[in-house]
Amino acid sequence: MTQWARHYLEIPEAIRNNNALQSKIAGLIPGRPIHGKRTQGGNREQAARDIMIDFFDCQIDYSDAYERVLQDLPEHESRHAGNRQVFSSDWHEAVVRMQAVRFYNHGAFLYLKDLGHSECYIPHSSHEYADSDCTRTLAGGTWEIDPLLDRLVERYDNENYNTPVTIPSRPNCTHTPVPPDEAENE
Ligand SMILES: [Zn+2]
Repeated sequence: MTQWARHYLEIPEAIRNNNALQSKIAGLIPGRPIHGKRTQGGNREQAARDIMIDFFDCQIDYSDAYERVLQDLPEHESRHAGNRQVFSSDWHEAVVRMQAVRFYNHGAFLYLKDLGHSECYIPHSSHEYADSDCTRTLAGGTWEIDPLLDRLVERYDNENYNTPVTIPSRPNCTHTPVPPDEAENE
């Protein structure tokens, strides 16, 4: 039974099986910003947050969340409508995946610390991008949690991207942390 996701696609299963982790993450989402051009203006940011709340309450899965983004954050209501760099063909999936990994990892880092761990293991993922910073420098290793967590908060709460790599790194990070004693499952 998956208690800890080893990559982003395992997040829904992990939170269904790990109530303490699920509630840790659910408590983080309200009031936290979701930065970026796709969520600027109107009620787009709150709409995105509401989708993440339902996702981490196990009400909806990835494909439901992708559809909800198209419905609740339509491109035509954005001030960036028509900008193909902002609204690429898979932009709705990118928003969900980015924020799912961001909130999952934030909660997982905190819960690992609650359990007494100061380090985490970051598994390689069959979905990872070989040339991304996180794959080259973090995946397959055991790392101190605090610096990774500090950088995550700097990037996704405070919009300061001028930090060393963490998970998620932008834009298509698949990596999630597990307890250090799960390293041998690799
Ligand atoms: Zn990554």
